[in-house]
Amino acid sequence: MYKILKKDGNAKRAEFTTVHGKIQTPVFMNVATVAAIKGGVSTEDLEGIDTQVVLSNTYHLHLRPGDDVVYKMGGLHKFMSCNKPILTDSGGFQVFSLAKTRRIKEEGVYFHSHIDGHKLFMGPEESMRIQSHLGSTIAMAFDECPSAKAEHEYVQMSVDRTTRWLERCKKEMDRLNGLEYTVNKNQMLFGINQGAIFDDIRIEHAKRISELDLDGYAVGGLAVGESHEEMYHVLETTVPYLPENKPTYLMGVGTPANILEAVERGVDFFDCVYPSRNGRHGHLYTNKGHINLLNARYELDDSPIEEGCGCPACRRYSKAYIRHLLKSGEMLGLRLCVLHNLYFYNHMMIEIRDAIEKGEYSAYKKRKLDGFLEYDSIPVNDGYNIARNWRKG
Ligand SMILES: [Zn+2]
Repeated sequence: MYKILKKDGNAKRAEFTTVHGKIQTPVFMNVATVAAIKGGVSTEDLEGIDTQVVLSNTYHLHLRPGDDVVYKMGGLHKFMSCNKPILTDSGGFQVFSLAKTRRIKEEGVYFHSHIDGHKLFMGPEESMRIQSHLGSTIAMAFDECPSAKAEHEYVQMSVDRTTRWLERCKKEMDRLNGLEYTVNKNQMLFGINQGAIFDDIRIEHAKRISELDLDGYAVGGLAVGESHEEMYHVLETTVPYLPENKPTYLMGVGTPANILEAVERGVDFFDCVYPSRNGRHGHLYTNKGHINLLNARYELDDSPIEEGCGCPACRRYSKAYIRHLLKSGEMLGLRLCVLHNLYFYNHMMIEIRDAIEKGEYSAYKKRKLDGFLEYDSIPVNDGYNIARNWRKG
């Protein structure tokens, strides 16, 4: 199912075959939290911006419209008319970050809905059942994401429980995939490595979950307030203990620079709300660094956001026009900015794959990072302030 086509240092160029088609990795998954990419981006639009995988949110879809509704509509693929692979997160992160009050027990988590405050419970079995209803291509295990600042003792206790939860997820997923009316009987399960910034816990956990022979493995609990150096350090120490012949997914990361660094450390799946969220604020990614389209200097600029960019915004419209749309609060302005940013990320992944195939990854990475510094109005790593809160929106 997962075939490594080429290695360049630790960077992997691979092909992951799923029931909804082949995924070329490294890949950036485009975030469609409530089964839609914010900014008025349709499933049809994804064809024009090189999207390979869509990521939707279990917690949000469970609350609205309800996973039973999606199930009755034939699953997420049919519901949103999407034939691409879809990954659903487990809802765990949202239960821990969004829910107002929560009690963590061995069986799962008791909490209140962030929408109307009503009482809810989610444990490994519930998360698997919801994701089975959604019928995503890849389901994520239900885990606890301890704070980056949590004490060693708490993190160890939490990770041990996450491992027991993972075993329950696997058992439940196997059962659900065997039922007659399951939407996607080939639903895959990715486990999640946790351990905050403690090397010993991360490594031990990576070894334990590797034994479960899952379809893929994620490194979770990063981009939650630790420094970039700490994040890269965790990847360097942990990824070597995850199975090389399975996909490695770095959850919720990150800036273009973060992705370039993580690919070099063996990661091949990514997701992040930066391109869509920043796009909605007129913050655009280019090969020379960020630009803020609301800046007055673009008022009479008739060039595209980026010369040579093949996205639907740059092929037709000028900075001046899109800036005007943003300032007028026109939906089209947000849409064009989000399309450009997603295209930028998706297209960078194409370049990354190409560079690994040619065995030129480190030279490519350096060239790309150096290029980002040309526009110094917003430093290339500024994403971090936004990173701390990105999952909350
Ligand atoms: Zn563009």
